[in-house]
Formats: sequence, C-alpha cells, structure tokens
Amino acid sequence: NPELYSRNCLERNYNSQSDTPFKIAQLHEQWLQSQKIARGLREKSNAIQTQLSHANTFSGRETGSHDLGEEEIERLSEEARKIKRELEPIGEREKCLLEETQRLAAELPNLTSDEKPRGELKIIGFINEPLNQPPSSSRDHVHIGTELDLLEFKKAATTSGWGWYFLKNEATLLEDALVGYAKQVAKEHGFTFVTPPSMVYSHIASACGFRPRDQSRQVYNIQQVEEDQGHDNPGLSLAGTAEIPFAGMEANQILDAADLPVKVVGSSRCYRAEAGARGQAGRGLYRVHEFTKVEMFAWTAPGAEMDVFNSILSVQKTILQKLGLRCRILEMPSHDLGASAYRKQDIEAYFPSRHGRNDGWGEVTSASICTDYQTRRLNTRVKNLAGSEKKTDFPSTVNGTAVAVPRVLAALLENGWDENGFVRIPEVLWPWMHGVRTIRKK
Ligand code: AMP
Repeated sequence: NPELYSRNCLERNYNSQSDTPFKIAQLHEQWLQSQKIARGLREKSNAIQTQLSHANTFSGRETGSHDLGEEEIERLSEEARKIKRELEPIGEREKCLLEETQRLAAELPNLTSDEKPRGELKIIGFINEPLNQPPSSSRDHVHIGTELDLLEFKKAATTSGWGWYFLKNEATLLEDALVGYAKQVAKEHGFTFVTPPSMVYSHIASACGFRPRDQSRQVYNIQQVEEDQGHDNPGLSLAGTAEIPFAGMEANQILDAADLPVKVVGSSRCYRAEAGARGQAGRGLYRVHEFTKVEMFAWTAPGAEMDVFNSILSVQKTILQKLGLRCRILEMPSHDLGASAYRKQDIEAYFPSRHGRNDGWGEVTSASICTDYQTRRLNTRVKNLAGSEKKTDFPSTVNGTAVAVPRVLAALLENGWDENGFVRIPEVLWPWMHGVRTIRKK
C-alpha cells in the first residue's frame, strides 16, 4: 500500500522519504518478475535432471530399457549446464533487489495510530492541581542548587565543558532516592530489574530508530573498536537511552507467547551530544550531556500494546503525583513521533523558573508504543501466538521513562523551595535520604 506509507511519511515530516514506498513497490515487482523467470528455469532444469537420472538408473547399456541415446544425453546435459549459467546472474539480481528493498524499507518511519492529534499536541490530563496563577517565587534550580551547595557547573565546565555538572551532597542522595523510588513503583507494576550496558553497536541503535551515522551531532560515536570482537568493525555508540540495549537484548531471539508481556526496568547513564542545543532553555540541569534515567521497556503480543502502555503511564503518573509535581499529560502529534513510535504520550512538569517559556511546562517523561518497528529490524520473534497461523510472528515493543533524574531534580528544587531558604524533600523519597527531610544552607 505505497499510498498509505507515502502519506504517513509526509504526516510525520519525513518528506524526503515520501517517494520511497513507490520505489519499494517497483523493486518488489521486479523481484517478483525475476523470481518467475527463475522458477520457470528451475522447473525446466528439474525436468531434465529427472530425465537424466532415469536414464542413468536404468542404464540402457545394461538393460536396453531406456530410449535416450548418447547424443540425447549429451544434449540434455549441455542444456542443464546452460540453465545453471542463466540462473546464476538471476540469483545475484534477486539478492541485490531484496537488499535494496530492505535498505529503503528500513528508512521508513513506523505507521501512526489514529489516536494522534492532527497538527498541534493535545492536552489530555493533569497530575496534582493545575496552577491558576504564577508562583510567588520563580527561583531557578541553578541558583538554589548553587546556594545550597548541591550543583556545580563552573568546575564541570573546566573538566568537561558546557552541559556537564557535578552533583554534590544531598543532590547525590536525591539521585539515588529517585532511582530507588522509581524502580520500586515499577516493580509494583510487574516490571523486573535489568541494568543494561551503556555502549551499543551502531546497527542496534539504527534498528531501534536511532541513526548514529546520520545523527552524529546527537549521538556520541566511539571510533576505536577491538578487532577481535568477531564483527566487521561495526562501530559503537554511547546509548542515549536504555531503550536501545533493552530492545537489543532480544535481537535474533524467539520469545514464547505464554511469557508475554515481558516487562523490564533499569537505571542507566544516558549520553546525548545535544549539539546546537546550548542556550537559556537548556540552562542548568535541563539539557545535559550525561544523566541517569530509569527506563521501562516491554515486549508484548501484537494487539495487546495498550495494557503495557497503560501500565507504563500508571508508573509515570504515580511517581510524579507522589513527588507532588504539577504536571500535564500530552498526546503527541505525528510530526513529534520520531522514527519508531506508533503512538506517544509525554508528561510535562511545571518549572517556576520557566514560567515565561511555554507557561513553565517542561517535558519530564515520554512513553511510546513502537508496534513491530524495532522487532522486525532486530529479528525478535514470538512463537505460539494465539490465533496466528504463522510459526513465528513479530512482537510489539513499548517503552517509557520512569524517571529522568536531572529534570525531576530541577523540578523538585524549584517547586520544593521555601523562601526561608530551604528545600522540602517529598515523603516518598525519605527511605533513601539517610534521615535528611529538608536541605538547608550549610
Ligand atoms: P527521550 O528518551 O528523549 O524521550 O527522553 C526521556 C526523558 O529524558 C525526557 O522526558 C527528559 O525528561 C529527559 N531528557 C532527555 N534529554 C535530556 C537531556 N539532554 N538532559 C536532561 N534530561 C533529558
């Protein structure tokens, strides 16, 4: 259905790919033609082989029972050799056509859910009370964090540059507390713990919808690769999100439908080049190059994605609600879905210091249904799927942020700030805070 896929490219802002579905359809047609010719030749070759083997089995030299003369046998053998020579380039052509089709198809974005709003994003709900008037204090987390000796940006600029930071004192406890609390809530929702690697092969990142080669300004590529790793210098990237190693964990594997959904959660360091993003909007902890994030990831039967999506959203809402952050929930429009998402919901928290920008709202979590976009590219399959006639099928994947530490830390400092000079810590984080309930100037 090239029209559908082409329209989908345009809707998702993949304008330069809008002709690709038609090219794929053409290549597929050529591949079918080529297969038809090859099938005809193979049938002819098989018929000759049958004749020849019949002649050899009941060799007329002994029984006189066959009616193929020496000359005829030679003619047929020559004919068989000729067909073999003709088949070779056809097989080569079929392989090339298939490779080119797959290369083009891999560049297409996922299809898009009908739930997405046309044009602008849609606000579909709130967490905690929406704010009716601007806050009395709009101190930003950089001021608060510096005054309370929690954040250090200047010295990080010396060691690493813009967009890097040191967390200090109670801020490090807050990081541990956010990770611990997020993992606890995810566990209560049936997710099991996995800590993923921080580096991934570039082809694994590509298969997940992240293109390290094209997005080199956004992804840190690692140049040196050990030669004895058994691959043809495949290239490594620092993972921007645990979604990539999680999805890659089941590459080339076959899951059993009885085990679905498989739901994992884990904490990882995320690395983002964020080239060109420097500016007031990304001040302080808002947009950094390295951060800790707890990520949820799941494989589910096709058609059962909504159960897992809702469970991911429930984890996100519980955490943000218990942290006391005012938030709004958004259904994302098609041009904001990236390559892999079929449907996506973001949650934005209110940051007093950002009141003059987007009314103070800043993204803190994201949740996406990717249907079979990633599993097709990674060759993750599922067997014993109810109602499926096929031996194996492609499962769907769903992912979402449980907590992205720096932005939530910034929101907690700004929203928990008391004009008397201290920050209140939400009660749900107390078990990880070593007795600290408020953070004051030392
Ligand atoms: P993403 O994987 O891009 O959907 O991001 C997941 C979450 O990570 C976002 O909702 C943000 O809260 C957070 N995040 C993304 N990029 C950055 C960054 N450069 N610095 C700090 N937090 C980020």
